[in-house]
Amino acid sequence: MKIAKTRSELRDAIAQQNIPINFIPTMGALHTGHLSLVKQAAQHKGINVVSIFVNPRQFNNTEDFNKYPLQIEQDIELLSTSPCDVLFIPDYNTVYAGAEIPPYDLGHLDAIMEGSQRPGHFKGVAEVIARLFDLVQPDRAFFGEKDFQQLAVIKHLVQQWNLPIEIIGCPIVRNEKGLAMSSRNARLSKDGIELASSIHSTLEQVKNSNWTASQTTSLTTAKNDLIAKGFDVEYITICDAQHLSPYPSFANNQQRVFVAAHLEGVRLIDNLALN
Ligand code: AMP
Repeated sequence: MKIAKTRSELRDAIAQQNIPINFIPTMGALHTGHLSLVKQAAQHKGINVVSIFVNPRQFNNTEDFNKYPLQIEQDIELLSTSPCDVLFIPDYNTVYAGAEIPPYDLGHLDAIMEGSQRPGHFKGVAEVIARLFDLVQPDRAFFGEKDFQQLAVIKHLVQQWNLPIEIIGCPIVRNEKGLAMSSRNARLSKDGIELASSIHSTLEQVKNSNWTASQTTSLTTAKNDLIAKGFDVEYITICDAQHLSPYPSFANNQQRVFVAAHLEGVRLIDNLALN
C-alpha cells in the first residue's frame, strides 16, 4: 500500500497505472463498515484508493469536530491488510487551497432529516466531494448506506456536475447486536453500546408494524420507545428510497425508515429498508 499526502504524491502513486480508479472516501477511525467498502471496491477491476480526511466544513457543530476520533496509525495498519492500494491523507490546504467548487443545488435533499438538523452539513459534504473527486479522478466511488441521505446527495451531485463517476452504495455493516458500525460508537460506554443496538430493533419494529396503514402510529410508538430507553430523538421518519420524498409524495414503492438520536451525548443515525 502506498501512502500519498499531496496531489503530486497521489498522482505518482496512481499515474502509471492505466486502469480504473475505485475510490473510498472516509474520515478515518476505521472499522469493519469502512473495510466492507474497500472489499466491495476490490470486486471491481482497478486500483483501490482510500482517503482519510476529517473535513471540518461538514461539521455544523465544533464540539463534534473536536471530539471526532483520530487514530491514523491504527487506520494505516488496518488498511495495510486490506485490498487498499493507495491511502491518500491530504491536509486542509491540499484539499481546498485555491480550488473552486462548482455551483450546485441540493433541492429538497438539503431540507429534510440530516439537511434540516445539521445546517451546512451537506454543503460541506458537497465541497469535500467536489475537491476529492477532482484530486483522485475516480471511475467509481463507494459509499455506505449507513449514510443513506449522503449517498443520495452524492448521486445527485454527480448527475448535476455531469461527472463520469459510477456511485456504488454498499450495505450497512452492523455489530452482532445490530448496532450500525460508526466511528462515533467509540465515544459510547459499554452500556451505551448495548443500549444503542435498540435503535436497530426499533427500526425492525417499525418494519414489522402495520406502518402502511398508519405511519404516524408506528413512528410515534417507535419514538416513544426510544425516549423511554433514554434516547434524545431528533427525528424518525419514512421516505422513499429513490428521491427521499416524505409521505405522501413517495416517488416509488421502496420505502426506508430513518432515525437520528442522541445517547450519552453521541449523535447516532441509522436506517432500514421497509419493503
Ligand atoms: P465516514 O468515515 O463516517 O465519513 O464514512 C466513510 C464511508 O463509510 C461512508 O460512505 C459511510 O457511509 C461508510 N460507512 C460508515 N459506517 C458504515 C457502516 N456501518 N456500514 C457501511 N458503510 C459505512
